[in-house]
Amino acid sequence: YKLEHFNIPMHYQEDVSSILIPHGLILDRIEKLAKMIISQYNDRLVVCCVLKGGHQFFADLVNFLKNFTNKEGKNLPIALDFIRVKSYENDSSTGTVNISMTEKELAGLKGKDVLIVEDIIDTGRTMVALLQHLKSYELKSVKVASLFIKKTPLSNGFIPDYVGFSVPNLFIVGYCLDYNDHFRDLNHVCAISETGRIKYMNDS
Ligand code: 5GP
Ligand code: MG
Ligand code: MG
Repeated sequence: YKLEHFNIPMHYQEDVSSILIPHGLILDRIEKLAKMIISQYNDRLVVCCVLKGGHQFFADLVNFLKNFTNKEGKNLPIALDFIRVKSYENDSSTGTVNISMTEKELAGLKGKDVLIVEDIIDTGRTMVALLQHLKSYELKSVKVASLFIKKTPLSNGFIPDYVGFSVPNLFIVGYCLDYNDHFRDLNHVCAISETGRIKYMNDS
């Protein structure tokens, strides 16, 4: 895509090198995912957002989920939950995964259908750690929707139940995906330019 054909905020003009997935395409894909997801549930669904990166996907996904009906033609009640999971500094995984939910919040998920909403699966370590952690809380079911999955040799083999797009092995930003907390306010999913990488390095 030609950068000049798209709306890029003035403050990021120099900081992105290409648009990988335009905002409109992302929304279209999420609409399709929501249709598929809702058709596979019958009960109240707890949609759990993995903050912060998953927030925009979560918000748009829930909007579509509210409007679609399942196989019996029913809208499903949807509950919202949030979890903070942090593993990245600059553009690489730190290897340790920090999960923010309290014991009480986790115990509240017992017997429920839970859909975890994540921005991107890279090595898969974050999701495997989170799912492992959830195992002891007796959820009725747990599935993962990730907007992106990265093609990387470092993958641990984890595949989410629902995936929006498969992306090349590079660091992407936009649509709430960040580089040291920058670029979340960019609508399109982009690759960072060298200028941008240097500008926001070690900075948040
Ligand atoms: P994993 O544990 O699968 O290696 O990494 C998971 C988390 O790292 C993702 O949920 C995301 O927050 C962050 N991450 C991985 N790859 C990227 C990327 O290309 N761009 C951004 N902004 N974050 C990423
Ligand atoms: Mg994430
Ligand atoms: Mg991040």
